[in-house]
Amino acid sequence: MGAGSATTRSLNFGAGPAKLPLEVLEEVQNELLSYVASGMSIMEMSHRSKEYAKINKDAQNAVRELLNVPDNYKILFIQGGGTGAFAAVALNLINRTGTADYCVTGTWSAKAAKEATKYGKVNLVFPKPDKFGSIPDQSTWNLDPNASYVYYCANETVDGVQFQYIPETNGIPIVTDMSSSIMTEQLDVSKFGCIFGGAQKNIGPAGVTVVIIREDLLGNPMKVCPSIFDFTHVVKENSIHNTPATFSVYVMERVFQWIKRNGGIPAMEQQAIAKSELLYNTIADSNGFYSCPIDENCRSKMNVPFRVGGPNGNEQLEEVFLQEAEKLRMYQLKGHRSIGGIRASLYNAVTYDDVELLVKFMLEFQRQHS
Ligand SMILES: *Cc1c(COP(=O)(O)O)cnc(C)c1O
Repeated sequence: MGAGSATTRSLNFGAGPAKLPLEVLEEVQNELLSYVASGMSIMEMSHRSKEYAKINKDAQNAVRELLNVPDNYKILFIQGGGTGAFAAVALNLINRTGTADYCVTGTWSAKAAKEATKYGKVNLVFPKPDKFGSIPDQSTWNLDPNASYVYYCANETVDGVQFQYIPETNGIPIVTDMSSSIMTEQLDVSKFGCIFGGAQKNIGPAGVTVVIIREDLLGNPMKVCPSIFDFTHVVKENSIHNTPATFSVYVMERVFQWIKRNGGIPAMEQQAIAKSELLYNTIADSNGFYSCPIDENCRSKMNVPFRVGGPNGNEQLEEVFLQEAEKLRMYQLKGHRSIGGIRASLYNAVTYDDVELLVKFMLEFQRQHS
C-alpha cells in the first residue's frame, strides 16, 4: 500500500488545519499531475485560464447552493486568513459611522476587536470576562444604536464557545466569523450583513477565506483599505484581482461537492449534533473524571475542550492521555496552548465512527486511571 492509502490514515481531531474527507484527497491525488487531461497540475496553471475560471465559478455557485445565499449577496474569496478578515471587515464596514459593536466571547473575537480599533471606535457589547466559557444574556448587552455593525464569532475554536442563536440587533448589520462553523449547520444568510470563514478548519486547505456580503454594504471602504481587502473591488474583479490561492480554492470546491453528495448542510448539522452529544454525554457520565468548563447553553458542536482527572485537570494525567491516544493513532487532541487540557475538534470530515473510537478510548482510560 502506498503512503496515501486509507489504512495509514490517522484519527485526526485537530482544530485547524484539520481533517479533510479522504475521497477529496484521493480525487486531488488523481488529478495532481494532470488536471482534466491538460498535462499539468492546477497549481501550474494560470489563474486566468478557463480551467481556473470554472473552478472559481463552481466554488461560488456551490456556496450559494449549499447555504441558500440570496441573490442580493455576493460571494468572495480573499487571502489573509481569518485574521486578514478581522482587518478587512473593519476597513470595509466601519466607515459608515466610524464605530462598531463587538461581542467578545473568546480568543478570536478578542483579536478581531483589537484589530478593529486601528480603524475606528470599538464598543464592547459586554465586558470581556477573565475566563471565556459563557455568553452573557442578550438582555444585558450594551448595543450602540449608532454602530456600523455588530460583530460576533459564531464558534470560538480555541475556547469551545458557540452561539446557539443569531443576536437581535435592531436592524444594525451583523458581521460574523464562521471560520470553524461554516457549512456545519443550516443558516439563514438573510439575517447577516457579512459572514466570513477561513477554509482550513472545515472546508479546505489554508490560504482562502470565504466572504459572503450583502450588496448594499459594499461601496464604502476606508481610503486606506488595501485593494486586495476592498470587498467592492474584489467583487468587481470576481475574486481574481491578483493571483488567488488557486490550489486552495480548487480543493475547497471539491469539499463543497463532497458535502453536496453527502446530504448537504442538513446532514452535516445532524452529524455534528450526534458526534458532539456522544462526546459531551461521555464527559457528563464520567463522575467528574472528565469535565467541560463551558456553560451548557453555549457549548460548541465543533470544538470540545475538556479536562482529565478533575475539574481543574491533572496535567500529568493529561500528558499520559495524549500519549496513550497517539498509540491508537488519535492525533492533535492537545488543548490550545493558552488553555491547556484536551480539545477534540469534530469538523465535517470527522466521522461518527471516529468519535466512537475516541469515546471508547476515553472510557478505557478512565477505567485504568481512576
Ligand atoms: C482559526 C481562526 C481564525 C484565524 O484564522 P487564520 O487563518 O489563522 O488567520 C479566526 N477565527 C476563528 C473562529 C478561527 O477558528
